[in-house]
Amino acid sequence: MTEMPLDKFFLQKTDQCVMCGLCLPHCPTYKLYNAENESPRGRIALMRALTTGELTLTPSLTAHLDRCLVCRACENACPANVPYSELIDITRTVINKETAVAQRRTKPETILNNLSHLKRWRPLLTLYQRSGLQKAARTLRLPQILGLAQLEQLIPKLPAQNKWHEHYPATGIQRGQVALFTGCTGKILDGVTLTAAIKILTRLGYSVTIPPAQGCCGILHKHSGYPNEARKLALNNLKSFQTDQLDAVIYIASGCGSQLKEYKNLAGLDQQHQEQAQLFSSKTQEINQFITSVTWPADFKLSPLNKRVAVHVPCSMQYTPDLPDTCQTALKKIPQLTVMSLPDNHHCCGAAGDYMLRHPDIAGALLKPKLDTLEQLNPDIITSANIGCALHFMAALEEKRNSIEVVHPVSLLARQITDRQ
Ligand code: SF4
Ligand code: SF4
Repeated sequence: MTEMPLDKFFLQKTDQCVMCGLCLPHCPTYKLYNAENESPRGRIALMRALTTGELTLTPSLTAHLDRCLVCRACENACPANVPYSELIDITRTVINKETAVAQRRTKPETILNNLSHLKRWRPLLTLYQRSGLQKAARTLRLPQILGLAQLEQLIPKLPAQNKWHEHYPATGIQRGQVALFTGCTGKILDGVTLTAAIKILTRLGYSVTIPPAQGCCGILHKHSGYPNEARKLALNNLKSFQTDQLDAVIYIASGCGSQLKEYKNLAGLDQQHQEQAQLFSSKTQEINQFITSVTWPADFKLSPLNKRVAVHVPCSMQYTPDLPDTCQTALKKIPQLTVMSLPDNHHCCGAAGDYMLRHPDIAGALLKPKLDTLEQLNPDIITSANIGCALHFMAALEEKRNSIEVVHPVSLLARQITDRQ
């Protein structure tokens, strides 16, 4: 970040935009609305005008800025290196300060707390899902009537509850030590993937630690204009991992991972914390990236799978160097599996953190072309390395009564592990 006054810094960055429009075809909201105010270039102009006072904050202006998914496709396409996501994050912070709380978007804590409370409600939810009550409630449209439709639809089928340990020893000869980032909801919403990750990592010879004090990565807070909360969450995670003793900090949700890699850019850290943050970000690795970068023991075999899998690449991987193809590379380790990329992976699916809850109609419209493509490709399985995108796909496919299975790539890999010969 900057030492110069925020307005000056901000205007300098917006002025980097030469209005060329090369970002427009990459922007999902521009594609949907075909309107300048829903494009990166238009939003930059709106943000600039707000800063100079040419425009004042109105509900409609706020709505244009709120509809941005912060997918960063525009940043990736921009030849002038405009730091778009930094600009929108700063603007949302200003909007939050200047708008009455009641008129603003739901705070990320509220949504995350709702999800965290799933832990307490798990027995009841499991009964609700398995007893046929869910089917009956949906037939009667009860979730809609109670205003819980989006959340209810996104809760995945809860597997039997896992008992998590803090430490999992390597199987066979130990080659190193890694820690798993589970964030605030990983254990509750994505226990299957976590279990799969532990199985693969220990089998590759790595002992796995799950630091119990870790929590939310802070990405929702950052992109919703609550930087102080995001910073507090980051500092908690930096304190919770003994990074200097680890070969890697591994994440299974690519959305969270993109934020962990940004900890090195936290503002106002003293030298000790700065070094800690640098080390943490440098050791942070996406699970598929990690397992494809190490040598597999000769006796670690995967059994063949004669199926077709379509790979969805989340924006948090699509626009991070070295990550776009890692899921495909990992899945190609399964003999006989046909691995296809979804052709429109460069467009956001609409999940975008809590976006699918705040803007369900837009999120649905952005997912629709991908569902149409899936119908043509007709794969047996679709994989996504981000839990938010996976839940978005699952909910939509269930609504269409389409039986394509949605899983994380490492879950598929773990299923194919054969016992030692
Ligand atoms: S971040 Fe995504 S949605 Fe927002 S302006 Fe850029 S391309 Fe469009
Ligand atoms: S590509 Fe970059 S410079 Fe061109 S209009 Fe978009 S943000 Fe501005």
